[in-house]
Amino acid sequence: MKILVIDDALTQRLFLKASLAKLGHEVALAVDGHEGVAEFARFDPDLVLLDVLMPGIDGYETARVIRGASDEWVPIIFLSGCHSSEDIEAAIDAGGDDYLTKPCDSKVLEAKIRSMERIVQMRRQLVQRSEELKSANAALMRLIDIDGLTGIANRRHLDRKLAEEVGRCTRNRVELSVLLLDIDNFKRFNDSHGHLAGDECLKSVAQALAGALHRPADLAARYGGEEFCVVLPETVGDGALQVAERLRRRVAGLNVTTPQGSVQVTVSIGVVSQVPPRDAAPAALLSCADAALYRAKAGGRNRVCRAPLESNTVIASPATV
Ligand code: GH3
Ligand code: MG
Ligand code: MG
Repeated sequence: MKILVIDDALTQRLFLKASLAKLGHEVALAVDGHEGVAEFARFDPDLVLLDVLMPGIDGYETARVIRGASDEWVPIIFLSGCHSSEDIEAAIDAGGDDYLTKPCDSKVLEAKIRSMERIVQMRRQLVQRSEELKSANAALMRLIDIDGLTGIANRRHLDRKLAEEVGRCTRNRVELSVLLLDIDNFKRFNDSHGHLAGDECLKSVAQALAGALHRPADLAARYGGEEFCVVLPETVGDGALQVAERLRRRVAGLNVTTPQGSVQVTVSIGVVSQVPPRDAAPAALLSCADAALYRAKAGGRNRVCRAPLESNTVIASPATV
């Protein structure tokens, strides 16, 4: 262990240094509380042996400063000539973990150091476990927001994003655009090329959509089945139409590999752009986009349709309409 000895008595420092070095520990020495605090920061010890009565700041105050300055717990053992129960109590209250009286028996000191070493190791293991748990938890949190097949955001992530953006765009009085995309004749694609090719197709389309969005706040998500949703915060209608058209062309330009060779797939897209009114409901916004998507399908597919501007009024939640 790296052990810091803080003691104003030269003989005590030299005795401790010699006995600790003999046990294989690395030792640093400080002659008073101030030097001890500075040395604590520089040497970064695993254990501190601390005298109580010293000129300047005493051992209790030194322990308090050390405890206050460091997030890490480092064991502190007081070594003192005073042995009343009040002295021991004051030392523990100041942040000490153990208390030995001088002259100190080297066997007792050695045993106490071993016991502290054990606690330090257990604590390190605990800290490491908790770090591992934290990162596993973070990975899990990322995973539960991802669609297992396509690797893009899933419905859960989309619902949260939509609720956040509806709230934010309402507050800031800026337009929020939502695109609903549906692969054209996907049932026929599955029937002709098989479900495995169908799944590959969903992956290619999802990656193409996610890869075609440029702003950090934009989100492409799998809405369900062969339907996708794209959220474009702070994006006006014309901008959203441009993005939708870019996505439509991107998908049409994909050559999806199937056992029968490469196949072109297309999507129909419904677009809605609104400054959401107060108490706006994300579901109402989606239903406007869905109505526009229905018109794109009815109009012949592989096209973009925009919800009519008057659908503004439909977006308020039923309670406020
Ligand atoms: P439309 O152009 O009107 O959208 O026609 P469509 O055939 O795409 O629409 P429909 O909603 O009738 O069919 C959707 C099909 O998508 C049903 C199912 O075969 C397929 N599908 C949905 N989810 C999945 C999936 O996860 N994997 C695969 N391979 N196919 C899926
Ligand atoms: Mg569908
Ligand atoms: Mg479809």
